[in-house]
Amino acid sequence: MKVTKEILHSYARLIVGSGANVQPGQAVLLNISVDQAEFAAMLTEECYRAGAKRVDLEWQCDEVSRLHFEYAAQETLCEVREWEEAKARQMTVDYPCCIIVESEDPDAMAGISPDKLSAVEQSRAKVLKPYDDAIDGMHQWCIAAIPSEKWAKKCFPGDTTERAMEKLWDAVLKTMRIDGVNDPVAAWKAHTDCISEKAAWLNAQGFCQLRYHSANGTDFHVELIPDAHWEGAADVNSRNGASYIPNMPTEEIFTTPLAGSCGGTLVATRPLSWNGQLIENFSITFEDGRAVSCKAEKGQALLEKMLRMDECANMLGEVALVPKESAVNSCGFLFYSTLFDENACCHVALGAGYKEVLPDGNELTVAQAKERGINDSMIHVDFMVGSDDLAIDGVRPDGSSAPIFRSGTWA
Ligand code: ZN
Ligand code: ZN
Repeated sequence: MKVTKEILHSYARLIVGSGANVQPGQAVLLNISVDQAEFAAMLTEECYRAGAKRVDLEWQCDEVSRLHFEYAAQETLCEVREWEEAKARQMTVDYPCCIIVESEDPDAMAGISPDKLSAVEQSRAKVLKPYDDAIDGMHQWCIAAIPSEKWAKKCFPGDTTERAMEKLWDAVLKTMRIDGVNDPVAAWKAHTDCISEKAAWLNAQGFCQLRYHSANGTDFHVELIPDAHWEGAADVNSRNGASYIPNMPTEEIFTTPLAGSCGGTLVATRPLSWNGQLIENFSITFEDGRAVSCKAEKGQALLEKMLRMDECANMLGEVALVPKESAVNSCGFLFYSTLFDENACCHVALGAGYKEVLPDGNELTVAQAKERGINDSMIHVDFMVGSDDLAIDGVRPDGSSAPIFRSGTWA
């Protein structure tokens, strides 16, 4: 499909309307690559049309971000200056609707020392994370994506840049349910309703444990929090009741498992891109809820670093179910972007969980949620475990069980 101005406008409308669901009078914070000025203007206009009070723009630039890491001293990059903290603090006043449009080069940070990357992330999170925690669940946000040439070439290295861009755009529009004919807003409504139905079924089952098996070596069990529920697609801002879609595309139904109680081995079925670097062909073994060992053919040091980012980076914050025939998986290639790849198949995430899966989750502080079994960490990194033969069983407190997934899809 040719990417016309109309297509771009309908995509911008979808992100602002169905995704972020910008409400009259709200402040918006838009984060987008400097290469995407035209689309940034379209999004800004849609936000104002939806009644936004103001739209603040933050430009991203892969090349410049990389240069900071190449040239600036680690101490300089670790430092959070007063104006940066003030900006984060302002978010706890404005509760802005955040729109993030990714188009990054998956190799943007290739070759940069993982130690430097993680040290900078750690010390900045120390100052800035409390502000994020303070508005968690109380503002709308939406992460979407727009193709860039470097990203397209990473996915289709054998094609010309032009052809690679066409292919990536086709895939992005397919997963965004934009076909130039049907109303994408209605298509998303049908899609999110379908996901909600599946989540309702899981919630009615009352499973307390999941068991995973695959011929690739995955043999894993994880306990669930008794009163936590399964969620998918849409989320609700607890301050104003506005429903929004945090990730576009989204195909998953997820919950946060009980921190500190899982065991066995999970074998990753897709490479993982973390901090602009790749970890490939890896597995992680858990004992008493913590990752105790890991093996990666590529990126071993990076994976070990990730698991040690803080005290709870080696515990799980999410388990998610995605059938193998999802719109993302049917594109048939690796996006090198977690936003897409996590919607290709079942996955789990290391690090922070979602307190909103608890009935009163949004009223809880991070510390209170932690007491109820929701992991907290500065990282939240999804990795894929879905395979063509993945079987997942749900176990109830009375010992009875039911198949949830067989052969990589809903049983
Ligand atoms: Zn997920
Ligand atoms: Zn996740």
